[in-house]
Amino acid sequence: MNPITGVTRGGAEWIPAFITDLNQATCIGCGRCFKVCPRDVFEIVDREDLDLDEDDYDDDYSDDDDFSDDTSMVMSLQDPMDCIGCEACSRVCPKKCLSHEPQPVAA
Ligand code: SF4
Ligand code: SF4
Repeated sequence: MNPITGVTRGGAEWIPAFITDLNQATCIGCGRCFKVCPRDVFEIVDREDLDLDEDDYDDDYSDDDDFSDDTSMVMSLQDPMDCIGCEACSRVCPKKCLSHEPQPVAA
């Protein structure tokens, strides 16, 4: 694969890792990814509107005082094709919901 490659201001090459998946079963809807993303990739939605199995929800967060236990909202990928592969979203996600991969240069 010939991956899409970026260049820093100093001229060093780096390989962006673009978002490929968001695990809504573990997402707690905290909005951290939405706040740090410089693009229009994310959208917060009502969990009720999704066709998710409630048994799949991760409720480990309930013992964590840093996070709300309101799981009525969940993050979704509105436009993953707008991602620039910076991985800022994964750095702030407390539940490791987000997956990334380099992508090939379009033919
Ligand atoms: S990798 Fe960067 S651009 Fe892509 S979704 Fe995450 S924060 Fe947004
Ligand atoms: S940062 Fe993680 S847990 Fe929080 S809304 Fe985004 S995907 Fe969900």
